[in-house]
Amino acid sequence: MTTDVFILYTGGTIGMGPREPEDPSSPLEPKSIGELFRFLPDFSLYGEKRGGRYRNDGPNPRAVEAGRGGLPFLELDNGNTIRFGSASFERPVDSSDVGPSDWRRMAETIASVYGDYDGFVILHGTDTMAYTASALSFMLQNLGKPVVITGSQLPVSAVRTDAVLNLMNAVFIAGYQAADLPLVPEVVIVFADRIVRGCRASKVSTSDWAGIDSPNAPLLGTIGERIKIRQEAVRPVPERPFALNPALDENVFIIDLFPGFRSDRIEGLFRNPDIRGYILRTYGTGNIPNDGALLGLIRDAIEAGKIVMNLSQCGTGMVEMGLYAASSELIDLGILSGLDMTREAAVTKMMWILGSGAGRPEQELQIDHRGEQSGSLFHLFFGRLPKEDAAAACRRSLIPDARLNRARISRSSLRISNLGLEGAAPGERSTLHAYLNLPETDHRTPADGEKRIATLEFEWNGRPETRIKVVTRKTQAAIGEGEVALTLVSGRPEHRFHFSGLHLEILATA
Ligand code: ASP
Repeated sequence: MTTDVFILYTGGTIGMGPREPEDPSSPLEPKSIGELFRFLPDFSLYGEKRGGRYRNDGPNPRAVEAGRGGLPFLELDNGNTIRFGSASFERPVDSSDVGPSDWRRMAETIASVYGDYDGFVILHGTDTMAYTASALSFMLQNLGKPVVITGSQLPVSAVRTDAVLNLMNAVFIAGYQAADLPLVPEVVIVFADRIVRGCRASKVSTSDWAGIDSPNAPLLGTIGERIKIRQEAVRPVPERPFALNPALDENVFIIDLFPGFRSDRIEGLFRNPDIRGYILRTYGTGNIPNDGALLGLIRDAIEAGKIVMNLSQCGTGMVEMGLYAASSELIDLGILSGLDMTREAAVTKMMWILGSGAGRPEQELQIDHRGEQSGSLFHLFFGRLPKEDAAAACRRSLIPDARLNRARISRSSLRISNLGLEGAAPGERSTLHAYLNLPETDHRTPADGEKRIATLEFEWNGRPETRIKVVTRKTQAAIGEGEVALTLVSGRPEHRFHFSGLHLEILATA
């Protein structure tokens, strides 16, 4: 059998050679696709293996004899054939020069030949490979064929190069039918011994063979003597047809915190009206220093309609705001959680969501779209109760986003922002009960029973306070299909409460 694979060459070390051909120690620069294929006779009409090295000394006799309509091809050991089509960036680049307009070109090139090939290989520099892989993951919607990105640590012309094996492995995964491999309908990076989901990848080493890894998510497969694909980890073939969604909004910015960080230095950045989204790289589970000026900048940005996302500087684990006081305030400000995304995925996802003009970017940014994060965060906002309307009981309901998979709820927290009391003297103790999906509730409703999800006990100190309570187990039990109703009841009817926001934050695993 024959499979058709399309190769797009963009540049990178894989196709680089010394600037001065006579001086191997001169700086490396990207060469043409023809130069690259000179060293890969199996992929080309030209070139032949001579004395252990591939040389371009004229037409490859094997290809010419086979008379395959001029298409380069590769004969596999199992007798199957992979035929190639190819294209190249007019001017191949070092990947440090690749940006959103190049991602668009790559996505558009693939879309233009999508129907003609079974799989696609993109040859790319390693420096920003993970950004490209993430961006393409989002831009290529309902992907039903493999898009495999690879490159190398040493140029194809080097004697000890890793280019040939990386390219060969990429070609096998893209031409999966001929290679007797399962279909991986995703953007992936194939590098050294690993197959990485594109939107989970990071460059982790400047020099190791395995320079690209998936630091915070399992590999999709491994490469050794055999190529092993973990089919249970691979995304299913989409039901909808492939579509290109290339609009990106580049007006985003990443800010890294560090001890000694001075928020006044970034005031201009936060107040810049052109920037629509910020990714704040924070400590640990999403903590930031107790710096009123920084919180003020974040608050003003969010109030001005901008988006601020909290992303951890840690390579593994997940943002969990509200775990420590140092991050509780952030949730109240409306900062979004980047969960366990890589910075590459976070920044490209933000460009893509803002560029696509999605109706509720805040919600879309916290939803898993391509396996870029281990779950989706749903923010159920039940509104506010102003001081003038303070009440001893209040019931609110809403219909959650249809994508909330109730069977997969893994964490849930109840948050009552700026909870204040009327009719209680300072120092007096009070309680507040929260019920989920219990229509008839008042202060006599028994404490036991599944549907009381939380009881907050507090001493009223005269100042409204935000309260967060983890209610995972109770939410899992109480939430059914359809509407979600949240009822708050004061333990003492003479104590009337008010709040600026009532929220249920639900994390559902992907
Ligand atoms: N600077 C090169 C690039 O990213 C590095 C590489 O390809 O490994 O294009």
